[in-house]
Amino acid sequence: MFFKRKIGLDLGTANTLVYVAGEGIVLHEPTVVAYSLEDQRIVAIGEEAKEMLGRTPGTIVASRPMKEGVIADYRTTSAMITYFFKKALKGRVFWPQVVISIPGGASQVEKRAVVSACKQAGASDVYLIEEPLAAAIGAKIPISQASGHMIVNIGGGTTEVAIISLGQLVVNKTIRVAGTKFDEAILNHMRKKHNLIIGEPTAENIKIKIGNALLGDYSAASAEATAVEEKTMEIKGRDFQSGLPKILIVGEKSINEALQKPLKQILEGIKSVLSQTPPELAADIVDKGIVLTGGSALLTNIERYITYYTGVASFVVEDPLFAVIRGVGMTIESLDSFKEAIR
Ligand code: ADP
Ligand code: MG
Repeated sequence: MFFKRKIGLDLGTANTLVYVAGEGIVLHEPTVVAYSLEDQRIVAIGEEAKEMLGRTPGTIVASRPMKEGVIADYRTTSAMITYFFKKALKGRVFWPQVVISIPGGASQVEKRAVVSACKQAGASDVYLIEEPLAAAIGAKIPISQASGHMIVNIGGGTTEVAIISLGQLVVNKTIRVAGTKFDEAILNHMRKKHNLIIGEPTAENIKIKIGNALLGDYSAASAEATAVEEKTMEIKGRDFQSGLPKILIVGEKSINEALQKPLKQILEGIKSVLSQTPPELAADIVDKGIVLTGGSALLTNIERYITYYTGVASFVVEDPLFAVIRGVGMTIESLDSFKEAIR
């Protein structure tokens, strides 16, 4: 018998995740494509291509076809989606129905590009769901109630801030600062303050290992808590002056300093959304707190940083990297009842 499979897609700037109805999340790979400059032939996609970032010979380029949550390179993105669909459906791509998350502020042109890239990959019908809604559903927030919820999805390229009530976005803002900007800030800081040239993968690794948004122990209000030893890390790079390889020990404090500027930009965006929120909904948010999703919500103490500077309790959902795809997946499993709600 022939029946249409249902697939969910979270096409992020940093990571792409695929959900297959009845199976769950079947694929989680970096949104990276490597191709040869000579004949534009794709040589690797996903995990394998990410390994090549910054390590390619002159004839091969590894690049991220999504920028700031939207398609930047159409040809490469649609080739990548085709590859991921095949991989997720084990080669049997028979006109699946696709639900895909898109940024809250996506334009008509950006939406059309996403729909046609999915159709080119074999999709029969394509349904779009706004990312903050998907993240909220994935975080098991009862979004259809007449009550305000605030979602801050901090990904690779963008941070999406949204106030949701009655299943819709009431206020919504996209900030073009997220994980990648943290990496760039660390990379620049290493060069300026430590005379060390590093690549982006190293900068990301530093962020994950010793990145910390708010120093000091705010969990325990005891005197000895402040005496927590500073985390340090050995970093390999190239000396800015001599050009020779160099190893350096760098601590949390220095990296925290590097992160201040992008963190402040995210904070300003959150504050601006809070200031545009209708008072009744703002009161709900004070009660329920700010919900953080996306991979960059894993940055140590980012919830404490936001709580500290907004005065509103903030918390990170379980497995924040999977919040959006979980929400997309839940939408797919009940696609018929959702057909009304999503476009
Ligand atoms: P997108 O939806 O834009 O693809 P994701 O939600 O997948 O983004 O998040 C990717 C970002 O999360 C990357 O910038 C990555 O460096 C960051 N990230 C992943 N794990 C951690 C961690 N443990 N600490 C800090 N940042 C992290
Ligand atoms: Mg995302």
